[in-house]
Amino acid sequence: MRNIKFFDTTLRDGEQSAGVNLNLQEKLEIARQLERLRVDIIEAGFPASSKGDFEAVKQIAETVRTCSVTGLSRSVRSDIDAAWEALKGGAEPRLHLFIATSPIHMVHKLRMTPEQVIEAAVEAVKYAKRFFPIVQWSAEDACRSELPFLAKIVAEVIKAGASVINIPDTVGYITPKEYGEIFLYLQNNVPNIENVSLSAHCHDDLGMAVVNSLSAIEHGATQVECTINGIGERAGNAALEEIAVALHIRKDYYQVETRLNLQEIKRTSNLVSKLTGVVVPPNKAVVGKNAFAHESGIHQDGVLKEKTTYEIISPELIGVPSNSMVLGKHSGRHALRNRVEELGYTLSDEEINQLFVRFKELADKKKDITDDDLIALIFEEKFDPFKDFYQLSSIQVQYGTNQIPTAVVVLKDGKGNEIQEAATGAGSVEALYNTLERCFQTEVTLLDYRIESVGGGRDALAQVFVKVRVRDVETSGRGTAQDVLEASAKAYINAMNRVFMIEAMRAENEKVATS
Ligand SMILES: [Zn+2]
Repeated sequence: MRNIKFFDTTLRDGEQSAGVNLNLQEKLEIARQLERLRVDIIEAGFPASSKGDFEAVKQIAETVRTCSVTGLSRSVRSDIDAAWEALKGGAEPRLHLFIATSPIHMVHKLRMTPEQVIEAAVEAVKYAKRFFPIVQWSAEDACRSELPFLAKIVAEVIKAGASVINIPDTVGYITPKEYGEIFLYLQNNVPNIENVSLSAHCHDDLGMAVVNSLSAIEHGATQVECTINGIGERAGNAALEEIAVALHIRKDYYQVETRLNLQEIKRTSNLVSKLTGVVVPPNKAVVGKNAFAHESGIHQDGVLKEKTTYEIISPELIGVPSNSMVLGKHSGRHALRNRVEELGYTLSDEEINQLFVRFKELADKKKDITDDDLIALIFEEKFDPFKDFYQLSSIQVQYGTNQIPTAVVVLKDGKGNEIQEAATGAGSVEALYNTLERCFQTEVTLLDYRIESVGGGRDALAQVFVKVRVRDVETSGRGTAQDVLEASAKAYINAMNRVFMIEAMRAENEKVATS
């Protein structure tokens, strides 16, 4: 059986989704989880694009040991140099070079003739091969390129040393049959094609990313590029979990193998959803909340008698936890540490100590602490690296049906200074957010506000996600607390801290660029 490699680009193409801004800690956690999922290649970012991206790619390359880590690069020496600096500490450094090959991109974006594009591509591959053992080459907008030209440039870059050829459907335009035909065309018209592996990279603008990827596999591709939950530019990329499970469940048809550990799918999906703030629709294939729920009476009856009557995928296959272990007031630090490790999180001793304090506080208010509660606490503790920025000291909100809602907030900035403000609003959350806006003395546009409970029960924790725009920065934030208003305040402050972090990084980049 042919082996299909999974190239995950959640941290590069996925991170380009509108409103997604992952910090270093979050990227590292996702990379570690992708390693557990046993993807073959992790695209960790675009090292030359910013200092933050460079640092993230470097740390991921140095942390991940059992996957190849790669970074994106334009076909210019300065990009390749930056990528090598970031990736050289990796277990299997790999470069992902690209240049556009469609007439529309060559004329309007690159302003280069086809001959100049070939020359630049060949030059870049040759230069990259001085450093990198593996060079993957991508023809940006391949699907709108002229096939004879595509075959010609592919042959040249293979001669120059590229060992993986990626054929992206950059704009999400192709149909499954046409996409398969491009792979066949290249196999029939590029003389040295057997020396390389072919890769697919699809976008979901017409809802065909997964099926196009599968078509590529049927027509000779041995690598697919995808993201967890299908996040990515515009309508997103091909969803890794859908391709992986389709190949597994329909092995009889596709006749291929992968090295993925499918049992890590659900956990990876949850982690990416929580950290990016991009919710998984309930009806989404494989990882949606309802993917295994049988609602109709006839179906329920059938499943009770024999699961396979209506269930082609078992929840266990993708690691949906069947029973949630419960901790309580009397659980000790040791039990907590064990459970955290079983859940697959890596926490330092100091983080465990802090988590234990939060855990005890919660256990005083809530009888059973479920895995979901614990994960919510871990997220609060581990992924709030904004200790130098703003923290919530206290809130007070007054609400009554015949009264104007009023809020008072006290914040602490990184230097320990207190900021206190009060404001009113049409509702209690608005009063709270008007007050916070005053605290930050800047205009904040609230693009999205979502609240959900962690697990069930009256004493469940509240989890709030917000999306904000401040000046030209768009980002999300999340907060968890027993009270919905406190969770709302935390989410807003978390988002604002991200805004300040992004602006500080941008200012830093400008300094680097001008010095
Ligand atoms: Zn893409």
